[in-house]
Amino acid sequence: MKSHVKAVVIGGGVVGCSVLYHLARAGWTDIILIERSELTSGSSWHAAGGFHTLNGDPNVAKLQAYTVQLYKELEEISGQSCSLHLTGGVMMADTPERMDFLRLAHAKGRYLGMDTELITPSEAKAMFPLMDETNFVGAMWDPVEGHLDPSGTTIAYSKAAKKLGAEIVLRNPVKELTQQPDGTWNVITEQGVVHAEHVVNCGGLWAREIGRMVGVELPVLAMEHMYLLTEPMPEVEAFNKETGREMVGVLDFKGEIYTRQERNGILLGTYEKACKPWSPVNTPWDFGHELLPPDLDRIAPSLEIGFKHFPGIEKAGIKQIINGPFTFAPDGNPLVGPVQGLTNFWVACGVMAGFSQGGGVGLALSNWMVNGDPGFDVWGMDVARWGEWASLRYTNAKVRENYSRRFSIRFPNEELPAARPAQTTPLYDIMVAQNAVMGDSWGLETPLWFAPKGTEPKDIVSFHRSNDFEHIGNEVRAVRESVGVTEIANFAKYEVSGSGSEDFLNRLMTNRMPKEGRIVLTPMLNEFGKLIGDFTIANAGAKGAGDERFMIFGSSAAQKYHMRWFEKHLPKDGSVRIHRFDQTLVGLSIAGPKAQALLQKLVDDDVSTASFKFMDFREMAVGGAPCMVNRVTYTGDLGYEIWMQPAYQRLVYAAIKAAGHEFGIVDFGMRALLSMRLEKNFPTWFRELRPIYGPFEGAMERFTRLEKNDFIGREAAAKEKADGPKLRRVSLVVEALDADVMGDEPIWAKVNGKDFGTVGKTHDFGAPRFDTTGKEARGSTAATGASAVRGIHDGEWSVVGWVTSGGYAHFVEKSLAQGYVPAELSEDESEGMFEIEILGHRRPARINVQPLFDPAGEKMRG
Ligand SMILES: Cc1cc2nc3c(=O)[nH]c(=O)nc-3n(C[C@H](O)[C@H](O)[C@H](O)COP(=O)(O)OP(=O)(O)OC[C@H]3O[C@@H](n4cnc5c(N)ncnc54)[C@H](O)[C@@H]3O)c2cc1C
Repeated sequence: MKSHVKAVVIGGGVVGCSVLYHLARAGWTDIILIERSELTSGSSWHAAGGFHTLNGDPNVAKLQAYTVQLYKELEEISGQSCSLHLTGGVMMADTPERMDFLRLAHAKGRYLGMDTELITPSEAKAMFPLMDETNFVGAMWDPVEGHLDPSGTTIAYSKAAKKLGAEIVLRNPVKELTQQPDGTWNVITEQGVVHAEHVVNCGGLWAREIGRMVGVELPVLAMEHMYLLTEPMPEVEAFNKETGREMVGVLDFKGEIYTRQERNGILLGTYEKACKPWSPVNTPWDFGHELLPPDLDRIAPSLEIGFKHFPGIEKAGIKQIINGPFTFAPDGNPLVGPVQGLTNFWVACGVMAGFSQGGGVGLALSNWMVNGDPGFDVWGMDVARWGEWASLRYTNAKVRENYSRRFSIRFPNEELPAARPAQTTPLYDIMVAQNAVMGDSWGLETPLWFAPKGTEPKDIVSFHRSNDFEHIGNEVRAVRESVGVTEIANFAKYEVSGSGSEDFLNRLMTNRMPKEGRIVLTPMLNEFGKLIGDFTIANAGAKGAGDERFMIFGSSAAQKYHMRWFEKHLPKDGSVRIHRFDQTLVGLSIAGPKAQALLQKLVDDDVSTASFKFMDFREMAVGGAPCMVNRVTYTGDLGYEIWMQPAYQRLVYAAIKAAGHEFGIVDFGMRALLSMRLEKNFPTWFRELRPIYGPFEGAMERFTRLEKNDFIGREAAAKEKADGPKLRRVSLVVEALDADVMGDEPIWAKVNGKDFGTVGKTHDFGAPRFDTTGKEARGSTAATGASAVRGIHDGEWSVVGWVTSGGYAHFVEKSLAQGYVPAELSEDESEGMFEIEILGHRRPARINVQPLFDPAGEKMRG
């Protein structure tokens, strides 16, 4: 075993081996994988080996497609068969709502370059004759699904990595990890110490324990999972003989069941409601190649549905029941990336579908380690998406919830109940008493909308407009016509201080830093000129001689993501300090034409526009409580953001409500706020602004000052400007019916077959693709050739872009969408040019370049 390496990968399951292979492929060959026992000594060996591309997050879906496409390459390089069966698969909808879900998934696939197809239950039965198709209303066919040999595949990754120069050390548990002053690591193993620049935790079932070696509690939990294998079935053999094909894989949403052919019989697995965590606190180190005792009673309710939906299987004898543990993060997606607060400590764990996701995870992580950036949008699996509130107990409750609804529909307005409340502000009980429907905003209970007195404060979940529609409309109109108040504790807040603060921020941000008492809006870019942040920054003024102080406000969900970046770039000389407030600073926003008059009643300062202008910042007492006040709001109206310590929040709120009484003040929630930002064409972080877009694509040029000092990403941004952006963020008015866009819908344009190359653009890994075109390929085991991502055309119409978010803008009474289209189409405001596919219906849409509400911005300037 080498004693000094560039990187140590801990764990020889499918994920560790994939990371090793991808690091070696990217040119890091001075690397070791250290495995406690033999390869596949965790969950990998007893996996059912199924793979598919469907995922609620389109970016994760595309990484899954990459994983599947990789297997051919892997077999060729390693000389090891993965026993790949690319059968294709069907997803069965038992209700119209589930069919809507499949329509959405199918529509998303259009801009990702996926070849899914909506089919009838009878067509599905022709590919899997053991089903009773009368249980279903429709289905979706996905050609990129199948199954493989889990151990063979893991070994294929390991052999390919070794061929490229990586080393693998078996039967050698990692016992301890100690960090050196220079940020490198001593990896203490049973066979000795390895000094490494980087450590990657691919510990699978033990990832949590490896995290604890460095003082981190990773939000992962292993769950028991069962699947059964039947005896050989004559029906299966007959089908194979008759058609020359294998039966396809089937997902049955209602039963939370997956099933497929395994040899001459059937494999059927369930995600049962009465699910069971395994080793909830500590994973035993002596667990290895063994199975857990099966528990048929636990899966009996799922089997009952399974046998009703697939009566052909009930008749077969059960040959074996496999029960094994594997890990999940609270939302079921992997945990990947560098851990905030640590240097050179990486994770790739919580991978619950290693054979669908392992390749994509390996690719993303290796890009990140070697190039400093994952290369595409991996937010959906970034370890930074969880905060401190994701404790052991939180994870336990959320993972159980997620497991038991593995294939359940998550409606766009659905808030899941487990592990809530995790965090509350001092106003929580007041908001609940006022009939607020509360939502989870990065672990914090936040009012979404207010139900009228006497009605139950509850969302009726739906893909269509729902019971909140009328009430959000009332909140919006009340704000626009007079004044409203809302909680904004769920924003991220940071203070940057020290003599080097302004230089530091100027180096990180694209806009010039404001003068004392002023505010700027500014994006932040990575080295590749892609958007990695969008902030409101106030120059709060020095507290002492030679000091500088800035307040930064941003997206709450990105707090750890941004802290990781800030810390990476902090000057080593200690001239800059950064503090994340989290919930030690909370806030309220007041907005609407009467907001100024209201604030004046609460403060002793003069807050007339002449004295306190748009984009001013001031510390002042509001209702007697020390506060920081920004003259800006996300509503795009005249308004203020008021920040205070939690101890003052109830007092300030009470003062605002009392003083606002004469103006008819209303409480409004996040949904009204988001509706108002739409009619101003304001973007949101993680929707419109993500690390796959440049500042000119994102229409952020007003805040991107190439002429100021050099800043991270400036060169790439200058190139983007010089070349002209390929894509452009736009706002569209949609002739919607009773459903507005939710995000990820394809945008069609009448371009007479012209291909702009934008479809699949955001996710193009340049990997080989299976040719999955043509219905004749359905159910075939043959995977042939390679083809590029093709455009989707329908006569003179083509898919040219995608929606990022949208909804109903209640004040202007229009359904609006934001999204990306080719730049050359982005100012085409003509009627009949665009259509957006909502729940399977293509609805006319028209670009509106200017915001529909207050296009000149006169109201917010007051
Ligand atoms: C019953 C069942 C069915 C499944 N079906 C499917 C399926 O159909 N499709 C699919 O994609 N996925 C399936 N899975 C999930 C799949 O098995 C996991 O996603 C995958 O195994 C995760 O791999 P991993 O490498 O992250 O973890 P693991 O396989 O757990 O590997 C971790 C490795 O790290 C090693 N290790 C841990 N600690 C140390 C240490 N301190 N020092 C050195 N080595 C260490 C372990 O020995 C182990 O070999 C199934 C799982 C189960 C249990």
